[in-house]
Amino acid sequence: MAGAVLTIVAALDRIRERIASAGGDPERIRILAVAKGHPAERVQEVLAAGLVDVGESYAQELVAKADTVESYVRWHFIGNLQRNKVRHVAPFVHLWQSVDRLSLAGEIARQAPGASVLVQVNVSGVEHQGGVAPERVAAVVEGCGDLGLDVQGLMAIGPQGPETVVRAAFGSVRALADGLGLAECSMGMSADLEAAVAEGATMLRIGTALMGPRSSR
Ligand SMILES: *Cc1c(COP(=O)(O)O)cnc(C)c1O
Repeated sequence: MAGAVLTIVAALDRIRERIASAGGDPERIRILAVAKGHPAERVQEVLAAGLVDVGESYAQELVAKADTVESYVRWHFIGNLQRNKVRHVAPFVHLWQSVDRLSLAGEIARQAPGASVLVQVNVSGVEHQGGVAPERVAAVVEGCGDLGLDVQGLMAIGPQGPETVVRAAFGSVRALADGLGLAECSMGMSADLEAAVAEGATMLRIGTALMGPRSSR
């Protein structure tokens, strides 16, 4: 495990260099280790390297890993979530990042009253990635507030495409958040973190650049 931890520490250093070179403050931007497709041992190594925020896309994986790794992990749910899975992960989730409909928000509010959430915005036009259309974000944010949830910001998956297109998409998320008085913007992954940082991301969700390729599930 020691060697693997050193590899992750080195990867983390490189990510922090990339953040700085994009004009961000590596001390202030939160790095989430995205653990989907990686075993619990990898999560332990990430924790040993000093991170505490871990993202999961699948309810079953989250529950299995939460059972075996250190309990101080802050789990972030970042994937498409079915309502009937909410109660399984509710005991563990620190921040629900993929809230994109009020039916889901309602179930979260029932299982975890007052929970912290991000509303996911769809800026890529790719439907299966989830997210609310930009013009509906304000209504969903308001609806979450009415349910007693603590809306901390927005989450988005960047589009594929040239740097200018990616920057514009992330910039539109930051502008939406600012317009709604929301502080947090979770955007940017291994391949597009510079664009996200340049446009004001406060949280990056990093899998591959931190832990290498995922095993297929
Ligand atoms: C898998 C995933 C990531 C991490 O992707 P990498 O390219 O491996 O960094 C980030 N966000 C979401 C929503 C994901 O599903």
